[in-house]
Amino acid sequence: MALPMSEIPLSQPDITEAEIDAVVSVLRSGRLSIGPRQDLFEQMVAERAGRRHGVAVSSGTAGLHLVLLALGIGPGDEVITTPFSFIASTNCILMVGAKPVFVDICPRSMNIDPAKVEAAITPRTKAVLAVEVFGNPKHMEKLKAICGAHEIPLVEDACEGLGGYCNGKPIGSYGRAAVFGFYPNKQITTGEGGVVVTDDDRLAALCRSMRNQGRAVDNPVHAGHFNVAGISLTHERLGYNYRLTEIAAALGIAQMERLDEMLAARRRVAGMYMRRLMDWDEIILPFVDPGCEDEMSWFVFVLRLNDLYGAQERDRVIQGLRRHDVGANNYFPCIHLQPFYRQQFGYKKGDFPIAESISDRTIALPFYNRMDENTVELVCHTLKIMLQREQLLKRG
Ligand SMILES: *Cc1c(COP(=O)(O)O)cnc(C)c1O
Repeated sequence: MALPMSEIPLSQPDITEAEIDAVVSVLRSGRLSIGPRQDLFEQMVAERAGRRHGVAVSSGTAGLHLVLLALGIGPGDEVITTPFSFIASTNCILMVGAKPVFVDICPRSMNIDPAKVEAAITPRTKAVLAVEVFGNPKHMEKLKAICGAHEIPLVEDACEGLGGYCNGKPIGSYGRAAVFGFYPNKQITTGEGGVVVTDDDRLAALCRSMRNQGRAVDNPVHAGHFNVAGISLTHERLGYNYRLTEIAAALGIAQMERLDEMLAARRRVAGMYMRRLMDWDEIILPFVDPGCEDEMSWFVFVLRLNDLYGAQERDRVIQGLRRHDVGANNYFPCIHLQPFYRQQFGYKKGDFPIAESISDRTIALPFYNRMDENTVELVCHTLKIMLQREQLLKRG
């Protein structure tokens, strides 16, 4: 039984008896890795993204790493990306020894600004790595066109956008390859996990091989047998162990079967917040392209305070929410200002002013499928009190 909740969590996975049964049945089956569930799960994710291939991996980060390796990106190469994202979207560029080149973002979509991407392309640019931040797919069509014109692959970090569409086109269908991630705060979870999707046969084959120690034959299940003797011990290239377990894949299948139901629940919760917060001058609500409301795959509910507020006030609001048992966080601190990136590359405040200004004022509020009206009301009420306190402090 669920424990009574005293805190309103920032996120919560949506696990039903179906997921529990699916996982238990794997444990009973005796086949815990490299099996039919991996194949089915990756097919389901690929299909949803409108792609021919899916390659299941142990995390979104592992998937991004494999895609950059499969594209042959390495030392001396540049990859254009966003400073406003979860850190993994840039770390993967460093993992292959290439150089991340940040460009500033568009304040509405919070995705990289296509005009700035075009201006940053050099002969060393080997890919553009764009992120559907908070699930918003705006600009992906433009970024795809720019990449096409310059014959540079677009890599889509779709880890925050599973199941979403933009004008009928699924998230995950824009890049040469796209990567989804399934950490427990994402739209669906496998505990830890990810899937690379692509239409490129060669890229898919390379990812399959590299996730499984560089084996020539990734998956002996297709040969109809699975035993120690059936696993290929021929290793054709440097590989990794980035496999997804059958336990995780079974959880993923059960979650994919409920994806539309879960996305609808998320849209409902987002709508409850939007209705309650839309008249507040202090708050800028998440931007969704008009007419695309039903296509949006909500990852988190992140609003930002208007430009009369700075990071200090925002942090105080977050602390106040937490003191009242309301989960809240500052999604995301800019990647270029993380201690490691400052030290390694000498980035400083002012380098990407739009990303910084937005990042200083964001607040992620509790957001999960089964959130009810009363809980949303309580969060909004508490937020309002914290903002009233800020106004009193401002007046001195
Ligand atoms: C979640 C996420 C990832 C991948 O995270 P993992 O924990 O490795 O699965 C990558 N990029 C972004 C933008 C994410 O939000």
